[in-house]
Amino acid sequence: MKIGIPKEILEGERRVAVIPKMVEQLRKGEHEVFIEKDAGKGSFFLDSEYEKAGALIRPDAPDLYAEAEVILKIHPLEKIEVELMKTHSAYIGFLFAASRLDVIQIMKGKRITSFAMECIPRLARSQSMDALSSMTTISGYRAVLIAASHLSKFFPLMMTAAGTIPPAKVLVLGAGVAGLQAIATARRLGANVEAFDTRPAVREQVASLGAHFVEMEPVKDAEAASGYAKEVSAEFLKKEREIIGNRMAVNDVVITTAQVFGKKAPTLITEEMVKMMKKGSVIVDIAAEQGGNCELTEVGKTIVKYDIVICGNVNLSSSLSVDASRMYSKNITTFFQHLYTTKDGSFDFEDEITRSTCITHKGEIVNEMVKKAFETEGQARG
Ligand code: NAD
Repeated sequence: MKIGIPKEILEGERRVAVIPKMVEQLRKGEHEVFIEKDAGKGSFFLDSEYEKAGALIRPDAPDLYAEAEVILKIHPLEKIEVELMKTHSAYIGFLFAASRLDVIQIMKGKRITSFAMECIPRLARSQSMDALSSMTTISGYRAVLIAASHLSKFFPLMMTAAGTIPPAKVLVLGAGVAGLQAIATARRLGANVEAFDTRPAVREQVASLGAHFVEMEPVKDAEAASGYAKEVSAEFLKKEREIIGNRMAVNDVVITTAQVFGKKAPTLITEEMVKMMKKGSVIVDIAAEQGGNCELTEVGKTIVKYDIVICGNVNLSSSLSVDASRMYSKNITTFFQHLYTTKDGSFDFEDEITRSTCITHKGEIVNEMVKKAFETEGQARG
């Protein structure tokens, strides 16, 4: 196969889908690797390192796409990118297909086979392919550093000649992959941490990191078979806001990470709750791109309201571009090797990972959720 790695075109994106070390891995399968000039520049992987690993540099995107039979990428393809892809070629990367039906339509027309990284099922054997978890780990870590840089207080307990300063208090909402990493990072910086999640199963994980679990009447069947949280009722959300509201008044920092896969993030913090915080406190809303957990969050912006700093940073993983590229590269290379096991490039759709991630194949949309999204759009158009 001729594998192509284009330069990411999203503004401010610094990651690259494949690092030089993984080029060597990909070539072991007798594949050829092509990479667009300066694709690794934002994460300090130079063209010369790619050449040393055996990749062939292509001067621009049209040249790269004209050659590649399989594209490996991070961000979902833009229309201008999919238009450059060859017919009958393949795409592996994030896709978020249900919200990009125009791109999927073009893929279908060009008989492109596409695999979406965000659809990798949560199985023990797919953990090394799980880029969503890799990237949210980075977000959780980064969010705490952002909070620390905005807070006008120390995170750790400081015993100095000028007196003893108590540690900062941090509340983490949502203790999944990002939340647990945020807890661990805040603890490493010396803060007192408490956390809440609708899945009672995480209580022990929170405690094992030295944080306190905020107790609330547990949600029945909080977790779907996929391992993701289910959406909670409006009644539960009301109670949850009351409990969180009380905790917000005593914490200096709130990191919010609560999400429900495929849905808008739940609003856990209202404007009234923000007003209850101590002046100078900080909220970092990791769920900003999914609609935000805080009512006042502005996507991609840091704002100050009622003397509270509210950070709605997006694409946090790109800010750690070297390690983010390293992790993503390992995930996508393992996934590629899982998909391409035959010499003729055919896929094993009996396999759960392959079946769950495939969106388009042989001119058809094969993913049920995306099919439904097309039907809904068709109905909306009349
Ligand atoms: P996510 O990003 O969808 O959600 C983040 C967290 O928000 C979750 O823990 C969820 O329970 C929580 N949440 C949702 N609604 C909430 C609300 N109203 N209030 C408070 N919290 C709320 O989830 P995630 O972080 O990607 O992962 C969730 C779980 O899946 C974790 O336990 C993780 O360990 C597990 N996981 C397993 C695998 C695997 O087995 N291969 C891979 C990744 C994650």
